[in-house]
Amino acid sequence: MPLQIWLDGKLVPEEEARISVFDHGLLYGDGVFEGIRAYHGRVFKLQEHLQRMYDGAHCLNLQIPYSLEEMKEIVLETLRANELRDAYIRLVVTRGVGDLGLDPRKCPVATVFCIATSISLYPDEFYRNGLTLITCATRRNAPDALNMSIKSLNYLNSITAKLECARAGVPEGIMLTTDGYVAECTGDNIFLVYGRRLITPPVHIGNLPGITRQAVMDLAEGMGLEVREELFRIQSVYTAEEVFLTGTAAEIIPVVDVDGRQIGDGKPGETTQRLLEAFRGLIQCCGEPIYPEASAVPE
Ligand code: PMP
Repeated sequence: MPLQIWLDGKLVPEEEARISVFDHGLLYGDGVFEGIRAYHGRVFKLQEHLQRMYDGAHCLNLQIPYSLEEMKEIVLETLRANELRDAYIRLVVTRGVGDLGLDPRKCPVATVFCIATSISLYPDEFYRNGLTLITCATRRNAPDALNMSIKSLNYLNSITAKLECARAGVPEGIMLTTDGYVAECTGDNIFLVYGRRLITPPVHIGNLPGITRQAVMDLAEGMGLEVREELFRIQSVYTAEEVFLTGTAAEIIPVVDVDGRQIGDGKPGETTQRLLEAFRGLIQCCGEPIYPEASAVPE
């Protein structure tokens, strides 16, 4: 069965889901998006993802033609149309169709689409053995030029860094700010563990305020760990007892080697494992239900 895509007010088969070549999302990367997951028939942190999207759109003066509540229903409707319980959801709002000039005022209506598809999970060995990372030469965009804390359609900064990761044969890379502080990875946030303390860079330096990042901070505090948002340099990563990444696709993934430096004892750390267990517990039990219980799509 072809995927049913929600596009500008209706569900259409994927081969009919077409966007104009005059859409400013395509021409200029002018728009915002979200990557969201559904687990066991529930959408995880849907409200938080949508709030981040609406905040980003507000900063860009991009009018989303639906209320946040309506957008929730769009996501749920797309999941139902594809009979999905576990899914990766891509929600996109572009500035819409305009002319070839930059001027967003020439784009009267935003384009909205939602793709829901089965998720391709990261290989299990990433979680069992941990990741090897590099520090990318490409610096995180300066936030006073293009603030990456808005999840905009302009991802070239991360893509350039991702090309470096691919050349180095590693799945992710650390990006530094133009001042040389650790910012985040190309598509994940980063945490260090020192004893009972967790440290992650603050978002004001131009990081994405990750939904998983926040969930992990909340879980960690619930577990009696101290959580700090602090600036640090790459040397603090090398000397941390544990390092892990967070993201919607990755969830919580241990890091065991950065730039050829072994992290801790070179194995996924205990705190990282405990947080991953707690996170996997959280996704089991909360989230926006996709189906009314009575007519739920069977597992
Ligand atoms: N940083 C960047 C640059 C991202 O693109 C993402 C999302 N893939 C993240 C961090 C993690 O954010 P979230 O937990 O909301 O998926």
